[in-house]
Amino acid sequence: VTKATTADVDKSWRAKATPRISDLLRLPSGPIDLTAFDPQAIPGFIGSGKSDALAAMTHLGPRLSNLQEQLYAEGHTGDHPDGGRSLLLVLQGMDTAGKGGTVKHVLGLTNPMGMQYHAFKKPTIDELEHHFLWRIKRRLPPPGIIGVFDRSHYEDVVVVRVHELVPPERWSRRYDTINRFEKKLTASSTRMVKIFLHISKEEQRKRLTARLKDPTKWWKYDPQDVDERAYWNHYQQAYADALQKCNSEVAPWHVVPADHKWYRNWAITRILIEQLEEMALTWPVPESWSPEEELARLTGHARPVPR
Ligand code: AMP
Ligand code: MG
Repeated sequence: VTKATTADVDKSWRAKATPRISDLLRLPSGPIDLTAFDPQAIPGFIGSGKSDALAAMTHLGPRLSNLQEQLYAEGHTGDHPDGGRSLLLVLQGMDTAGKGGTVKHVLGLTNPMGMQYHAFKKPTIDELEHHFLWRIKRRLPPPGIIGVFDRSHYEDVVVVRVHELVPPERWSRRYDTINRFEKKLTASSTRMVKIFLHISKEEQRKRLTARLKDPTKWWKYDPQDVDERAYWNHYQQAYADALQKCNSEVAPWHVVPADHKWYRNWAITRILIEQLEEMALTWPVPESWSPEEELARLTGHARPVPR
């Protein structure tokens, strides 16, 4: 009788468990209507809510962290035909959708050494003098690193469109430019994980209210956020178009229902784990030294290895 190992149990649990969250939340191709996506939904989650999600996170955290370390190790040693791969997480969503919360609660489970975070703000005068992808390209993650974009080049077809910051003939050409850019990027060993945090207008009202009532959250508040609510439907339309037009095979969008913070954190952790697992990462094996010989040297049973 052979005993089941932890790995077997894990495997059978995974087989029985829900389908990949990446697949469940992946945006289908074709025209989309964001109002058809329920921001309160919890696709793929089995359990009774927040406490079960938090319990699940205690298992998912170490898995994510382990995968991240493998990615880092690969980049560190250049032990891959492409010289080390990277992953780029793109977070988009309305104000208060939870971009910062995702960084804190999901990326916070990993080693800061392997992460590179950047928040894209209103472009500076300097940035405006360049092509809209100029500032994006400068922040791409190097080999071994998980890059996190808190807002991204998608602002250039969303806020820019809503507020007519450039004429329509300019922003409308950007979808193709973005697709070409992402195709090149993903071909050069960067895996892209694009996530749209989908919240309801009512949930945003609650979160802005909470910010205003809590002095420790005032720093996050911007009076403009309330003005922007008047453009809610414009934003939803601009997002719907951007998601649909830039939903390629190599860089697909995921729509994560984000009214429940616990679901958002759980789902994005799952997606990152699934994406990293698909990269089939392995621990680098040394080429220039042997662990056995080194151990022998360490214990003094061997002569020094000639340099
Ligand atoms: P926050 O993420 O709350 O710090 O706000 C950053 C602000 O910068 C948001 O209002 C964005 O819409 C804005 N922003 C980011 N990228 C661009 C862009 N390319 N053009 C105009 N506004 C932008
Ligand atoms: Mg803000």
